[in-house]
Amino acid sequence: MKTIIEPFRIKSVEPIHMTSRETRERLIQEADLNLFALKSDDVIIDLLTDSGTGAMSSEQWAALMRGDESYAGSPSYQRFEAVVREVFGIKNVIPTHQGRAAEHLLFGAVGGAGKTVPGNTHFDTTRANVEASGAKAVDYCCAESLDTSSNSPFKGNMDIGRLRDCLAREGQNVPLVLVTVTNNAGGGQPVSLANLRAVRALCDEFGVPLFIDACRFAENAFLISKREDSEKGRPLEDIVHDMFRLADGCTMSAKKDGLANIGGFIAVRNGELARILRERLVVTEGFATYGGMAGRDLEAVAQGLREVLSPEYQEYRHASIQYVVERLAGIGIPVVQPAGGHAIFLDAARFLPQIPWNEFPGQALAIELYIEGGVRSCEIGSLMLAGVDPETGAEIPAERELVRLAIPRRTYTQSHMDYLLEVIEAVWLRREQIGGVEITSAPPVLRHFTGKYRRRQPAPRTAVS
Ligand SMILES: *Cc1c(COP(=O)(O)O)cnc(C)c1O
Repeated sequence: MKTIIEPFRIKSVEPIHMTSRETRERLIQEADLNLFALKSDDVIIDLLTDSGTGAMSSEQWAALMRGDESYAGSPSYQRFEAVVREVFGIKNVIPTHQGRAAEHLLFGAVGGAGKTVPGNTHFDTTRANVEASGAKAVDYCCAESLDTSSNSPFKGNMDIGRLRDCLAREGQNVPLVLVTVTNNAGGGQPVSLANLRAVRALCDEFGVPLFIDACRFAENAFLISKREDSEKGRPLEDIVHDMFRLADGCTMSAKKDGLANIGGFIAVRNGELARILRERLVVTEGFATYGGMAGRDLEAVAQGLREVLSPEYQEYRHASIQYVVERLAGIGIPVVQPAGGHAIFLDAARFLPQIPWNEFPGQALAIELYIEGGVRSCEIGSLMLAGVDPETGAEIPAERELVRLAIPRRTYTQSHMDYLLEVIEAVWLRREQIGGVEITSAPPVLRHFTGKYRRRQPAPRTAVS
């Protein structure tokens, strides 16, 4: 059949609270134009994040009841450990309450002043934990990643040339190289097996360990099976084995490809590093056999890690994301191509060319998507990521002005995606009337979470280039 259906039936439903356009105009004003300040009940389609927002399966809910809450040596931990070892092939498994706790433990142990951690693109919590240890996080994503309209298949890849230069220059200060699959901050774009092998070869040459940020390992494996010539059609389990055979360890947020609402882990081959991590674990997370998780959460993640490798599930997930991306591109709406693993990214700089970067086109677009149809998205542009020139103190624009529509796992159906398309198209048709926003108050760091904004009048039409 040509139609790819949701490979599940719905057993429990959560009503969506519908709102009118007038109500949404009022609610977004009351939230000072910050989508993080909205109550989630006032959102019709919530695409703020795909983290911990997915639906669990009936087998996961059943597994919760099996959860054993013993402080030490719980059978739930043994099941969790067995699944992680089987899927990733890494022996020492350390549970944490979510991904950033795993990062905190790892970089607390191997980071520190004078160290440099190269990656394709560090996720924001990863960068924060590297920097909190005193080390420096540097990104060497491949050049193709910067062109939002090119259809290159593996825009999450590491730039091997720049990584080599970095290792040659300061290899003795590099505690590990980190490859994030898929590359979340880089648009959910995958990393090829060939690129991972090339990174591994460099790590061997310079004697540096390779770690993988595994949050979306299954989506990455699926995209390898679709896009990498030598790997086409291989079982996802085998591709995952080949990816992780190259790594000395990994960190994981089970809120993504663990198909759970909370949880994470760190897995390492080196027994001595595992001992150090467990010593730190017991201080900040919990005992070695539960970390930061309840026994029932360990069970839900163990079950989720098996389900996420189902080819039917991955087909459906990517088909729905690709459907939206192709429809948008087809009507000329600027969208990052090709479709990534977990989200759709609108290119707000091209959608609203009349708005300069320092009037935040991405935020202006996200506000309009909410008013138009109650869709909550997230600006990933100069509001979230602007830098500061160390000499002049002036703000530097982000590399791209994007709006991310992250798709929660197994949560929305085809008709929700059609509704989303209708909302985006309605905003597109009135795009010339949309003005930028200015900040009325914001904290000095992570301003996008709590900032307050005001709308500016749209620029006169003649100013549109
Ligand atoms: C979400 C995420 C993290 C952090 O995980 P949390 O569970 O949110 O703490 C780290 N890396 C990547 C790539 C992520 O997407």
